[in-house]
Amino acid sequence: MREMGLRPGGQEPAARIECRGGRRFAWLYRIDLAKPKLPMTLAKEAALDKAMAARQTCPQCRRRYHHVIPLRTLGSCLECHDGTPADPATYIAPPATHQLAA
Ligand SMILES: [Zn+2]
Repeated sequence: MREMGLRPGGQEPAARIECRGGRRFAWLYRIDLAKPKLPMTLAKEAALDKAMAARQTCPQCRRRYHHVIPLRTLGSCLECHDGTPADPATYIAPPATHQLAA
């Protein structure tokens, strides 16, 4: 138990092993209950960021804006839609490869 860096965490022992006629025994704990809480936030944040990136990135100019762009109505950012220049402070320029490919 200790070698695995786990703690019972208040759970009831799932089983008891007795050795040598009951003189020595050890409590067994279910490992799945004893697992420390995993840092799920990172994976969660990555998934969230991916979803947000899809809503913030213009499919035409590949800029990623700091705000959600109206993909559903315009299908692109305002600049691609009607030429309204976007404030460079409101977006992250796409990688150079994307610019070259465009
Ligand atoms: Zn655009």
